[in-house]
Amino acid sequence: MKTIGLIGGMSWESTVPYYRIINEEVKNRLGGLHSAKIILYSVEFDEIERCQSSGDWEKSGDILGKAAQGLEAAGANFLLICTNTMHKVAPQVASMVHIPIVHIAAATADELEKHGIQKVGLLGTKYTMTQDFYKKILIDRGIDVVIPDMADVDIVNDVIFHELCMGEIKEESRRQFQRIIDGLKEKGAEGVILGCTEIGLLIQQSDSSLPVFDTTLIHAKRAAALALDD
Ligand code: GLU
Repeated sequence: MKTIGLIGGMSWESTVPYYRIINEEVKNRLGGLHSAKIILYSVEFDEIERCQSSGDWEKSGDILGKAAQGLEAAGANFLLICTNTMHKVAPQVASMVHIPIVHIAAATADELEKHGIQKVGLLGTKYTMTQDFYKKILIDRGIDVVIPDMADVDIVNDVIFHELCMGEIKEESRRQFQRIIDGLKEKGAEGVILGCTEIGLLIQQSDSSLPVFDTTLIHAKRAAALALDD
């Protein structure tokens, strides 16, 4: 079994499910007392968020790159950056280590292809929804991406940072997300990417009018499969 390196803490609320899902996957495949080999480097999210909002992506990339080097030195065989947004600096992080990074958008694109989705709605932080670094990976694979209107981009972003990343789950926000997902469906989306690792804490398949592609679940399951070498 390979050792998985997790760069987590962005926020820690979403790193907890990663740990659980990876271990559940390994247990499901191997049974008994089997569990995953995981090394976690959990960063101080306030420091990272300050870099995001001031636009100092290079500094945040350096922080994550140093975390990645620590995981490599500790014996990780491959890495996961446990947030969609911080994949903006995935190339910088990758340039600082010799082990591969399992890209969350690429893993999600594989899953969309498996389900024959050609046009998908994307929910995430404002960085993920409005910038190119994430969408380009899907578009390059021939998948059309639609995002909510700007007022709703702000609502989704605010719920992520002011509620979900702080462990607050509100019924009112769930209703807003349901309305926004309905809007993506009206724009022609055949599925919706929960493209922020906290959204799965708020929205389940039963809450959504579209098939959901939960990036935390997809990314964590991919890690377990790679660790078990299939
Ligand atoms: N976990 C979130 C994501 O998947 C947002 C937190 C962050 O900005 O990294 O994008």
